[in-house]
Order: sequence, then C-alpha cells, then structure tokens
Amino acid sequence: MPDPFALRPGETVAVLRNVRRLDGETVDLRLGDERLGDERIVDATGWLALPALGEPHAHLDKALTVDRASTRPNSLVQAVEQWHGMLPDITGPDVRDRAERALAQYAAAGVTAIRTHVDVPPDGDALRCLRAVLELRDAVADRMTVQVVPLISPATPLPVIEAAVREGADLLGGVPHLADDPAAETTRLLDVAERTGLPLDLHTDEALNLHGLDLADLAAQVLARGLQQRVTASHCVRLSLLPPERLAATLAKVAEARISVVVLPQTNLFLQGRDHRHSVPRAIAPVRMMLDAGITVAAGGDNLRDPFNAVGRGDPLETASLLVAAAHTDPREALDAVTTGVREVLGLPPAEDVADLLLVPDQSLTAVVAGPGDARVVLRAGTVLARTRVDRVTGLTLQEVP
Ligand SMILES: [Zn+2]
Repeated sequence: MPDPFALRPGETVAVLRNVRRLDGETVDLRLGDERLGDERIVDATGWLALPALGEPHAHLDKALTVDRASTRPNSLVQAVEQWHGMLPDITGPDVRDRAERALAQYAAAGVTAIRTHVDVPPDGDALRCLRAVLELRDAVADRMTVQVVPLISPATPLPVIEAAVREGADLLGGVPHLADDPAAETTRLLDVAERTGLPLDLHTDEALNLHGLDLADLAAQVLARGLQQRVTASHCVRLSLLPPERLAATLAKVAEARISVVVLPQTNLFLQGRDHRHSVPRAIAPVRMMLDAGITVAAGGDNLRDPFNAVGRGDPLETASLLVAAAHTDPREALDAVTTGVREVLGLPPAEDVADLLLVPDQSLTAVVAGPGDARVVLRAGTVLARTRVDRVTGLTLQEVP
C-alpha cells in the first residue's frame, strides 16, 4: 500500500488508511470510490489530516515584484506610489507569469481556495491585469478555486467597472478609505454591487487614525439595502483604536449586517505604524472581540513580496502563527481562521466535505500552527495537488520524516 508520498500530482486517493484527525481519532478516511483500485488506498499511518488551507485575500497581480523597487516603502501611501511607478512595465503576460508562480507557492503550502484582488490601473489598458488573472482562474479551475476581485480605486470610472464585471469578475472590490469622500465611495461601490448582483469585498479602514470609520458606515448601508451576507470587509485596522464601548457597538452592527471580516496581520504589521517611534501599535483588527461578537473571521496574508509587504511565504500557517503571536488567538482559532473561516467567507462548502485536505506528519495542533515544517501533501477533491518534503541533513540526530 503506497504512502502519501508515493503519489504524484494528478493521482486520486480513495481511502486514507490509519490517518489521524484533529480530534485525535485515527480513522480510515474515505475520499472517493474505493472500487477505483487498490493503488488508490493509501497508508497514511503517521500522518495528520487537516482541512485544506485557504487564502481569503491575495494580490496575485502584484506578487513577487518587490525586487524591482529601488527603494523600500514605509507606508501604505508610499507603497501605492511605488506600485504606480512600476505599472508602465506591468503587462498582461508579466502578471500571468508572476500570478502563476505565486499560485504554485500557495498550492504547495496547502491552499486549494484563494480570493485575489486585482488592480484596475488608471493608465494603459485598465483591464490587462484583470484579464490575465481571470485567464489563470479559468485555466486552473479544476485544481484550485480562484475568486477574482477587481480592486476599484476612487478614480476608476463607472464604465471601466462595468467592463470589469463583463469580463467575468467574481466580486467587486474597492478602497473607500483612500477616497476624498469615503462614504460616497462606499455608496458608489454598493450601488454597482447591487445593480450587478455581485458580492463586495472592500479594503476597509486600513489606517491608524480615526478620521472616519468606514466599517460602521458600510454596516449601516448593508442593513438599509438588505445586502446581508453579501459583503466582506478586509483589514479593519482602525477598529484596534476604538474604545471598548464604541467597538462593541460597531461590531454588533457588523454582526447584524452579516459582514465577514478578513484580518491581514502580516501586511498590517509591515505597513502600519511606521511613523511611531515608540509604543508602535500592532494595527491588527481585534480578532478576539470579533469572534465573541459572532462575526465570521478569516485571516490572510495579503501581499506577497511586493511593495506592500516585502516578505511572506504564501503560507496560511504563517498567517495563523501571526494570529497567535500578534492577535492573541489560541492556536485552534488561528487554524480555523485560515481554514473554515476562509471557506465561509468565500461561500464554499467545508473542505473536508469535498476532500480538500492537507496532510502533514502527525503532530500537535500548536506544532502545526507554528509551522509543520518537513512535509506537506495537498489533496484537492481527493486528487493530489502538490507535495513537498524537505530534505534536511544536520550533524544532530533527528527523527525521520514519515
Ligand atoms: Zn489587500
């Protein structure tokens, strides 16, 4: 009977024999039709089956560009300026190439579902990045779920937004906090979302000041329009500045509006708070309070080695680890935020129900969140999507990796 590492990408597993689940039980996990043949029954002794990971907020069009920049940004505004400086050289094929490499990195980490925002640049062909990522979405549809969100800037004219919708965008996105009139921009985006029937995922309150609170305005508008469960708010950094009573009242409205929140600890830590010389704020949405308020919370990596975040591994377990360290969740909540939380935000069935699994060497939940290290096998609908095994040799005695 083969072990998980005997399988190549594209091969399908019917049963994982003797695999340990997160609840501690060792079981035979049936993924498909056992009559497919003996070779599809896999000996998973010594392996732990997790739900596949998800990435609720990426920027595939920007990924892997950081080394093109001559200087490092030190704020969100400067990162935006630096990206705009790169745009003349950003072509459709360039986007496709980097997005594909980034997607392979996410897949190897265990991601089978990803939502990416994509710029609609003001100069040149406004839809070149979007078309490249939409083509990639369609090309990998049998292996990964990719949701594409055009990132509408306050300067994007309505006909361009409508053209993006016609191209096949899955949702609409935007950045109201960067508009001169954030409330008017939120209204404009909600109008288009309502007219086109597309859900909305907005970068919301990605700032460390209280010159407004877009999320409160968004929740009020969602309730007034009856758009519950159609809207995601990403970032929500400003919430970390609110005194407890105002925070509780805001979160109650967000919960009532069924707005999901995507927290993005790594990019927030990278971009925010750089103008503080001491007592630097963490700038992370208050995850604990949001969970207690009954809000669906997912966590993502946001940018991947671009002007908005110079580092990152495209690994949701890195995000989960940051949630434990920087947002003070417990490891289980952190894992949920990059698994079940993502699937809920993306409107997908639970990963285990569709045989999207991540296999790692058997270890504790905390060890997984810290970074399972040596080996990963990723299954999408029971079919091997990726496998990784680190060949590490040291002068010390180490336990063998299964
Ligand atoms: Zn973003």
